Amino acid sequence: MKIFCIGRNYSEHAKELGNAVPENPVVFAKPDTALLKNGEDFYLPAFSQDVHHELELVIKIAKVGKNIQEKFAANYYNEIGLGIDFTARDLQAQLKSKGLPWELAKGFDGAAPIGNFVSVHDLDLNNINFSLLKNGQLVQAGNSKDMIFDFAKIISFISQYFTLKVGDLIYTGTPAGVGPVAIGDVLEGFIGEKQMLKFEVK
Ligand code: ZN
Repeated sequence: MKIFCIGRNYSEHAKELGNAVPENPVVFAKPDTALLKNGEDFYLPAFSQDVHHELELVIKIAKVGKNIQEKFAANYYNEIGLGIDFTARDLQAQLKSKGLPWELAKGFDGAAPIGNFVSVHDLDLNNINFSLLKNGQLVQAGNSKDMIFDFAKIISFISQYFTLKVGDLIYTGTPAGVGPVAIGDVLEGFIGEKQMLKFEVK
């Protein structure tokens, strides 16, 4: 399976990192070894001193598709979940300054924790509130209505380049409030009032 991520999909987050708001979705991928499931502990990698949490709504692809038109995109997923796009911000800054790809900073083992999923029928897709608590304190809160590119646009865009297959995941971008994690931190993600994700940093 494949894991895609969208960068800079919330203008407040693009601003907090000093990035321009993009004209097309910014797409990158993580290998499947980045997945962290079932509330397993996340181990901080030795190569970074500044690993940031990025809380994101995640689309789970339910049907094979290529060149999907936006108006048909809803046929290709049934569930939305919550994940963290962990980012070694110090390493990413070095790579960006040299114009190099981001994989080392975002694709490392454990860099894609994934939680539970809910049926799209239980959600208003244009108004999904989601939030992240770090040690019980609210650190990130977002709403799908603030996405620059919505789910349909993202699926349509990615599928022009990559065939989407059942089980592929798309992390749809983080709202503002990204920040560092440290050993002992407990992260809890919510869609509305429902806890979708919980794990500890080691
Ligand atoms: Zn992200």
